[in-house]
Order: sequence, then C-alpha cells, then structure tokens
Amino acid sequence: MPQVSVRCTVDNCYFWAQENFCHAESILITTDQASSQYPESVDSRDTAMIVSQIGETPAESCQETACKTFSRK
Ligand code: SF4
Repeated sequence: MPQVSVRCTVDNCYFWAQENFCHAESILITTDQASSQYPESVDSRDTAMIVSQIGETPAESCQETACKTFSRK
C-alpha cells in the first residue's frame, strides 16, 4: 500500500489534525457528480464497496473533485 501524507485545510472535519494533517486511515476522493449519489458523509469502512460501485470517474479540473471521507465535527 502506498504511504501518503495528506495535508488538508478543512479544519471542521473529524479527521483533521493540527498543522493541517489528515488522520483518517484512508480517504475517498471522487468527482462531485459521483459523490452526489451518496450520503453527505460515508463510513470509511464502506470505501472499497463504494469504489467498486463508482468505478473510474475522470475529472476535467480539480474543482470537480472532493473528499468523500469528510465528516463534520
Ligand atoms: S477526511 Fe478529507 S476533509 Fe477530512 S481531514 Fe481528511 S482529507 Fe480533509
């Protein structure tokens, strides 16, 4: 598995930590269009299932992408 350090400035997320680090075990990034098919926040344990359902979702720009693991504090 790749080891990625995720820096994120969304400080009202449950997984956000000091110095803008994400402490989630894994995160799901997808397009806004695919994201809209699921609840506002999804359980990280459902990530693999959701990825298999969504498949691949090319985006034209970064503005079309979002972190689906976001969970409001
Ligand atoms: S889960 Fe997403 S929104 Fe929340 S801190 Fe991590 S990267 Fe940021």
